[in-house]
Amino acid sequence: MKAHDGLYIEGAWRPAESRDVIEVVNPVDEQVVGRVPAGGALDVDTAVRAARAALPGWAATPPAERAARLGALRDVLTARKDEIAETVGTELGAPLKFSQAVHVGMPIAVAGSYAELAAAHPFEEKVGNSTVHQEPVGVVGAITPWNYPLHQIVAKVAPALAAGCTVVLKPAEDTPLTAQLFAEAVHEAGVPAGVFNLVTGLGPIAGQALAEHPGVDLVSFTGSTAVGRQIGATAGAAVKKVALELGGKSANVILPSADLARAVNVGVANVMSNSGQTCSAWTRMLVHADQYEEAVELAAAAAAKYGDRIGPVVSAKQQARVRGYIEKGVAEGARLVAGGPESPREKGYFVSPTVFADVTPEMTIAQEEIFGPVLSILRYEDTEDALRIANGTVYGLAGAVWAGDESEAVAFARRMDTGQVDINGGRFNPLAPFGGYKQSGVGRELGTHGLAEYLQTKSLQF
Ligand code: NAD
Repeated sequence: MKAHDGLYIEGAWRPAESRDVIEVVNPVDEQVVGRVPAGGALDVDTAVRAARAALPGWAATPPAERAARLGALRDVLTARKDEIAETVGTELGAPLKFSQAVHVGMPIAVAGSYAELAAAHPFEEKVGNSTVHQEPVGVVGAITPWNYPLHQIVAKVAPALAAGCTVVLKPAEDTPLTAQLFAEAVHEAGVPAGVFNLVTGLGPIAGQALAEHPGVDLVSFTGSTAVGRQIGATAGAAVKKVALELGGKSANVILPSADLARAVNVGVANVMSNSGQTCSAWTRMLVHADQYEEAVELAAAAAAKYGDRIGPVVSAKQQARVRGYIEKGVAEGARLVAGGPESPREKGYFVSPTVFADVTPEMTIAQEEIFGPVLSILRYEDTEDALRIANGTVYGLAGAVWAGDESEAVAFARRMDTGQVDINGGRFNPLAPFGGYKQSGVGRELGTHGLAEYLQTKSLQF
C-alpha cells in the first residue's frame, strides 16, 4: 500500500518536524500496511499558517471557480475509485463491495453536491434596505474519525471549500492512507496551494494542537462525545466557532401496523453494515409486546445469516471494547440470541453479529454507544411507552419508524428528539441535513445546511 512519508502542506508533500510515525494496520490480518508521519504542534502550526496565507485568495475566488475545482475533485475521486475502495478496505477492513458502494460512492455524491451548491448558492441577498453577504468563516480545523474515512473528510472539506474557507485536516490515526489519497485528489483537481492541508497525527497531540490553535476560526469535529466535549470547551474559551458531530444510540421503532419481517430485516442490516461502526446506526430496536418474540426470532435468524460476511472492526482496541459491552449485556441480564463475545476467527479484529433480547431501557447496552455489530431489542407496551424509550438516552442523532400507514410513522417521528428519521426504510439523501439533537452534537453537515456552517453573514445598509 502506498504511503507518503510527508505531510501535505502548501501544495506539496513535506517532511514533518516531528520524527514520530503511525503504523497503519490491516484489521483483517493484523499486518502493518504502511507508515505515515505523526505530526506534532509545530507541523500543525506550519499547516495553519499556510491555510491562513491562502485564505484571502480563495475567499475572493468567484464561487463558479470554486465550484469548478469541486467538480474536478469529484471527477478525480471517480477516476480513482478502485484505488480508494482498496485503500479503505485495507485500513478499515471493509469488504470490497461495501467499500465501493458506500465508502467511495457516498463521498463522490457529496463532493458532486457541493460542486453544484457552490455554483448555485446565493452568497448575497437583499433584505429590505440591506444587502446581506455570506462570507467564509475563515480557516477550518477539521478533525475526522475512521468509521467512514473518506465520507467524513468530504463532508467537511467540500462545503468548507465551497464556502471559500481554507482547511487543515487531521484525520483519524487508524485510517490516514485514505486521507493521503484525498490530498492527492485535491492536488490533481487544481485546488490552489495552501487551500487544503493535511497533517496526519495522534488525536491528543496533533488534533488538540489544531483545536487550540489561535489561527483556526472554526473547528469541525466528528468523533466521540468525550473528545467533542473537550473540543467544545476549548473552542468556547477562545470564542471560536465549533461544529460537533458526535455519538448516537438511535431507535428503530416498529409500530404494530408495520410489515414486521421487513422492518426487522432492514433493521438488522442497518446495524451490521460497516460492522456496526456507524454513528447513526439503529442499535435499539423497539417492538410491541405482542410481536416481541416473533421479532426476536426474525432478528436472530437475520443476524446469523451475516455470519462471516461482515468485516472486522477497525482495531484491537475497538474489538476489546465491543466484546466488553457484549459481556456487560450478559452480566446485566439481557438474553443473547445471536453471536456473543467470542471472536469468530483466530486472526483479525472480528466480532460476531450479535443480538440481545430482553434488553431494558436502563441497561448499559441500551444507553451507551457500542460501535460494533450489536443490536438490542427492547419491548414496549404502547405508543407513549415507545416514545419514552426512544427518547430516553442522552443522544439524538438518527432513528427509524415503521408503520402500515406513512402518516402514522411521520406523526411518531415528529415527536422523536433526534436529527434524522427514516420512514419505512427511506433512502439516504446526500442533501438532507445530518446532525444531532442533545449530546449527539452541534451543527449540521450535508446540503445547504452543511454549507451554512462555513459561512458568516455581513449586512450592509443603504
Ligand atoms: P475519537 O473521538 O476518539 O476520535 C475522532 C478524531 O478525534 C480522531 O481524528 C482523533 O485522532 C481525534 N482526537 C482524539 N482525541 C483528541 C483530542 N484530545 N483533541 C483533538 N482531537 C482528538 O472517536 P473515534 O473512536 O475515532 O470514532 C468513533 C466515534 O465517533 C464514535 O463515538 C462515533 O459515534 C463518533 N462518530 C460520530 C459521527 C457523527 O456524524 N455524529 C460520525 C462518525 C463517528
